[in-house]
Amino acid sequence: MKLEHIGIAVHSIQDSAAFYRKALGLEIFSEEEVPSQKVRVAFLKAGETFLELLEATSPDSVVARFIEKRGPGLHHLAFETSRISEKMEELKNLGFPLIDARPRIGARGHKVCFLNPKGTQNTLIELVEPHE
Ligand code: ZN
Repeated sequence: MKLEHIGIAVHSIQDSAAFYRKALGLEIFSEEEVPSQKVRVAFLKAGETFLELLEATSPDSVVARFIEKRGPGLHHLAFETSRISEKMEELKNLGFPLIDARPRIGARGHKVCFLNPKGTQNTLIELVEPHE
């Protein structure tokens, strides 16, 4: 499966994007708020893969709680699939617990779901089915 993006929890998209621009020449490709997740996200294009900078918009957002517990940094890996529902069913049948019972609409209008990190070597994994 293709690594579609790497999610990074940040205090400030502005500060973080400035770092990636200055150090690595990466520019913001798109930016939006995802109210259902209480986050603002910015996608930076790094070749075939994006970096997704995640900034909490509320203290009770999962990203805010993550930063509180573990500090800013690597948050999740997102893999692309063209058939997210089938892939979810397959993972469930293999005994991997999912956080989402069904796909939901995430950033960029893509269908997404998350696997429970308890079943994935403690790394949060997202599946993404791109919106055409
Ligand atoms: Zn993501």
